[in-house]
Amino acid sequence: MERLQKANQTMQRYSCSKCGSRVYFDNRTCLTCGSNVGFSPRTMRMEAVEQLPGNVGLYRRIGAPKAGAVRFCDNERHGVCNWLTSPDDGNGLCAACDLNRVIPNLSEGDSLPKWAEFERAKKRLVYGLLRFGLPLDTGNPTSGRLAFDFARDVVTGHLDGVISVDMAEADAVERARQRQQFSEPYRSLLGHLRHESGHFYWTVLVDEGNKHDEFRRLFGDERADYQAALQHHYSAGPPQDWPEHFVSAYASMHPWEDWAETWAHYLHMVETLDTAQAEGMEPGAANFSLGGIWPFKRYDVYREESFSSLMDHWVPLTIAMNSINRSMGHEDFYPFVIPAAAYGKLAFIHQLIRRRQ
Ligand SMILES: [Zn+2]
Ligand SMILES: [Zn+2]
Ligand SMILES: [Zn+2]
Repeated sequence: MERLQKANQTMQRYSCSKCGSRVYFDNRTCLTCGSNVGFSPRTMRMEAVEQLPGNVGLYRRIGAPKAGAVRFCDNERHGVCNWLTSPDDGNGLCAACDLNRVIPNLSEGDSLPKWAEFERAKKRLVYGLLRFGLPLDTGNPTSGRLAFDFARDVVTGHLDGVISVDMAEADAVERARQRQQFSEPYRSLLGHLRHESGHFYWTVLVDEGNKHDEFRRLFGDERADYQAALQHHYSAGPPQDWPEHFVSAYASMHPWEDWAETWAHYLHMVETLDTAQAEGMEPGAANFSLGGIWPFKRYDVYREESFSSLMDHWVPLTIAMNSINRSMGHEDFYPFVIPAAAYGKLAFIHQLIRRRQ
C-alpha cells in the first residue's frame, strides 16, 4: 500500500485546482469546469486531475507538472469511491478501500446504494484517523490492522481489528426505527464506525501502550464480565445517574463501551471543530470581549496540544449551532452536557492520541 504521509495541513475546504471553484470531499468531478477530481490521501487534499495522453486510467495532477501519475481507486468504477492511489499500488485499491475485507454481493438489488453510503461514512472516519496520524496498520500481530466487513445480517461490532457493520445500518428507515427502539437519538453510520474504531484503538493505545492503570482510574476495570454487563444493561437499563458520569447511556454498560463511546464523541468533536474552522465559523466565546478567540489562532485542530483549548472552542460552537437549529425548528445539534467525569475521559483520549503524533 502507498506509504501515507502524516498530514498536518489542509482544513476540509477544497477548491478545484483548475478553476478555483469549491469542490467537496465526496465529489468525483468539478461541477463548474467538469475536471476529474479525487481525494488524495498522500496530500490530504482534493486534487483536480487530467488523463495522461495515451494512458487510459492514468492521470496527473493539474497544476503540479512534477507530481507523479495517479489513478482512481478500483472501486471508482462502482461509483463508491473518489480516492486517488498510486499506479504502483498492488491491488488497485485506495488506502481506505484497501481496508475492506468483505463487501456486499453487488448483484443483490439494494447493495450498491448501501455500500456507497457505507463508503461515504468510512471515508470520513479514515480521513480523521489519517489527520490524527493514527496507524491503520499497526504492524503488530496482536492488534493487526483495521479492517471492515460490510455485509447482510452480521452483528455490528468489533473483533481483533475487524469492524463488522450490518447493511441495515445503511438503511435510513431501519436506522430511524432503531433510534426509537434503543433511545439513541444520535445513531448514525459514521457514529457506529467511530465507536467500533475505538475498540481497535483501545488495543493500540491503552493495551499495547500499557496505560491500564490510568484507564481503570477513569473508566473502571475492563476485566469485568462483559456478557453479564451486557445482559444487565438490556434487562435493568442504564443507572439513573448515568448523565453525571458518561457521554451516553450505552457507555454505562461496560468500561470498554464507555471508552468506545467517549472515543466516538472525541472524534465527532474534533472533526466538527475542524469543519467549523474551515468554514470560518467563529462563535464568540463567553466572557471573551474581543470578538471570539478563533481569529487569533488559526491552527490544526487535529494537532491541538491542549484539551481545554479544544473545549474552549467547542462549547461556544455547540451553543451557536443549537441556536441555529432551534431557529429552524429542528432538534438540538448537540444535545449533550459533558459531565466532569466524561471531561476527564475525553482529555485522556486526547493525550493518548497526542503522544502518538
Ligand atoms: Zn473546476
Ligand atoms: Zn477507494
Ligand atoms: Zn462497542
